[in-house]
Parts: sequence; C-alpha cells; structure tokens
Amino acid sequence: MALIVQKYGGTSVGSIERIKAVAERVIESHREGHQMVVVLSAMAGQTDGLIALARELTEDPDPRELDVLMSTGEQVSIALFAMAVKSMGYDARSLLGFQVGIHTDRLYGKARIHEVETRRILEELGKQRIVAVAGFQGLDDHGDITTLGRGGSDTTAVALAAALNADVCEIYTDVDGVYTTDPGVCQKARKMRTISYDEMLEMASLGAKVLEIRSVEFAKKFNVPIHVRSTFTKENGTMVVAETKDMERVAVSGVAYNKNEARVTVKKVPDRPGIACQIFEPVFEAGINVDMIVQNTSEDGITDLTFTVTKADFYKTMKLVSETAKKIGAEKVLGDEDIAKVSIIGVGMRTHAGVAKKMFEVLAGENINIMMISTSEIKISVVIEEKYTELAVRVLHEAFHLDEEPHEDQ
Ligand code: ASP
Ligand code: MG
Repeated sequence: MALIVQKYGGTSVGSIERIKAVAERVIESHREGHQMVVVLSAMAGQTDGLIALARELTEDPDPRELDVLMSTGEQVSIALFAMAVKSMGYDARSLLGFQVGIHTDRLYGKARIHEVETRRILEELGKQRIVAVAGFQGLDDHGDITTLGRGGSDTTAVALAAALNADVCEIYTDVDGVYTTDPGVCQKARKMRTISYDEMLEMASLGAKVLEIRSVEFAKKFNVPIHVRSTFTKENGTMVVAETKDMERVAVSGVAYNKNEARVTVKKVPDRPGIACQIFEPVFEAGINVDMIVQNTSEDGITDLTFTVTKADFYKTMKLVSETAKKIGAEKVLGDEDIAKVSIIGVGMRTHAGVAKKMFEVLAGENINIMMISTSEIKISVVIEEKYTELAVRVLHEAFHLDEEPHEDQ
C-alpha cells in the first residue's frame, strides 16, 4: 500500500465528463489499496475568468480580495470531484487550504508555503476516504486566504507529498511528459524517462512549461520524486528526481529555446567604475529582469555593453537606458527584438569536455551567427537571429543524438 499524491491540472478537470474520468482513475488506485490524496486545479479557464471579472471592476484589484476570488475556482473542482466519487459508490472528502492547514506568508498572489499540517488529511485517509485538496491556496498567519501564484497547484501537490512523506507525487497534465525539446519544432523530440531537478529547472525557465518552477524547487529541497504524466493515457511519463551518476553518461539531455527576449546594446560606454551600476539601477528599480549581460574588454577606456530582457520589457528598458546613456556620455543605444536564445542542458556537461565546441561547430556548420553566449555548470545558451531558432534546435538535437534513448540502467 502506498500513499500517493496526484495533481490534476485545469484541462484534466475541464468538464464534468473529465472530472468523472479523473474520479474513475483515482478510484481504481484506491481499490488497489493505495491511500489517495488528490490536488485539483480550477476547471480550465476559470482562474482567467475570475481575474477578468475583477478587472472589469477595477484596473488594480485589491490583492487580498483578488486571492479570495481566485481561490474559488479550486473550491468548485474539489467539490464536484468529491460528488463524482461518491456517486460512484466510494467515499471522498474535499478540503480547502485552510481546512488542511496549508500555512503561507502574506504575499497575496504569490505566497510561499511555510508549513503543511497533516492531521486532518491523515484522519480522512484513516476513514478510507479519498481526499481532494484545493490546489493553489493557503492561509496566512492572520487566517486570511492566500494564493501561490499562477500554476501554483503543482506546488501544493509537492508540498503535500513532502509533508505526508508520500511514496510518489504524480502530476497529471495534458502533455505526456518532458521531452528532449519542443516536439512542435523537432519531430524527433523524445520523451525522457528521467530528468534531474536541476535540468528541469533549466528547462522550465527556458520555456519548456510542463511544471511550475517553484514546485520543482520545492521538490528538490525536500527530495520529492515527481512523475509528470498525461491524464489521457496510462503510459508512464517522466520522472523528475535527484541527480544520479547514470545521468552524467550523456553530455546533453535537452535543447530549449526562448523567443521571448530582446537585446539592448549600449555603444561606446566610458569604462570606469560605477557605470554598470548607473545603467542597470533604473532598470532593476523598474522591476525589469535582466537575463544575459556581456561587456567587451575596453579599448581606450571605451566599451560596449549588451544585455537581454523580455520582449514585454523591451520598450521600457530602451527608454530608461537611453536616458542614462545621455547622462554618462555613451554614443548610442541599439535594440534588437528579432533574437532567440537557444540552450543545451545536461548534468553530464560537468564531466564531458568539448560540449561547447561541438555546439558552436554545429551552428557554424549551418551559418548561424552567435551574438551572445552564456554558460552555467549544466547549460550553454547562445543568442541567435530569431529566424534560425527552429533550425538551430533541430541540428543541435541531431548532433547530440537526443533522439536516441540513453543506455542507462534505470
Ligand atoms: N488555477 C490556478 C491557475 O490557473 C492554479 C493552477 O492551475 O495551478 O493558475
Ligand atoms: Mg499547470
């Protein structure tokens, strides 16, 4: 008998038919003798709908009340799910965040979980009930409702799995696992059997949006194995787990891309202490996240500074940096929105030499110009012209043999 935490996303509970199908699936595991804790998201589109309602009323809804409003989506799905289970002759209880005791800080809209109580859930499980928990919500130390940020039900599931010491945390979604790259771009993309937390964090932050990033950080911290899989098949998906020696056998595990960045270059900046600070301070103060930064070695005390921001922040950044450029006597500011970041990711990079060389060779072979490069221990990213994104992803996928199953004893 295992204790299993399962999470079903909005599409998986998007209609009454689908809620019934989820109930059947959960009952099947319950009948096999497992203790089932089921975390649900709001039905597809509900959270967006609630936010839209608030925005109809005011541009700037009160954060506390917005959380009260948004959290109702999950209340609907757990209630319907519990009814479905009961109508099939089994016992279930729905529980909201405050009933479970999911304690968070007071940051409405992006609260962090501090502590999860297990007493109530264990009590219900002890009565042979299936327990349905509302995802995405908690309560702060004033007893007020909080929400965890969009996609936050994944974190609820992982936090419950950690607190309950569950055997596995299964995240059911509308994709059947984590792929070596975007299957929409590369037909040879392969579903991975396992991926490490760190690789998943890199993949997620680069746009392979299968799991909410925070849930992966949480899982890593508490060593909760996550099984990401499809609601619509019985097939195994991908296990997101702690790194093993085996994973290092392959140098590269995945190729990610991000078309959502733009590049800003400040030409001929006087190279003296404090300049980077002057340029970036207004940008950071405006809440803009800067991704890659490259500064050339200076010649005659003059240098170029290039960095990337999201496309959404591009115009604001150009405006702020142009103002600073004038003040500090830089020549001009150039902007380029038609760029993409392509990255190769793999824990095996730590032990395999020559990965960067191969990446650069492969891109050169296709005449793709690299504008910027950044590296971390398990990732190499390059900025290229946006129109070459798909080509770059395909040739890198091919060159690192990502279509072939790695021969590891899993
Ligand atoms: N319903 C929330 C959202 O749409 C939480 C979730 O689905 O995980 O963001
Ligand atoms: Mg989601």
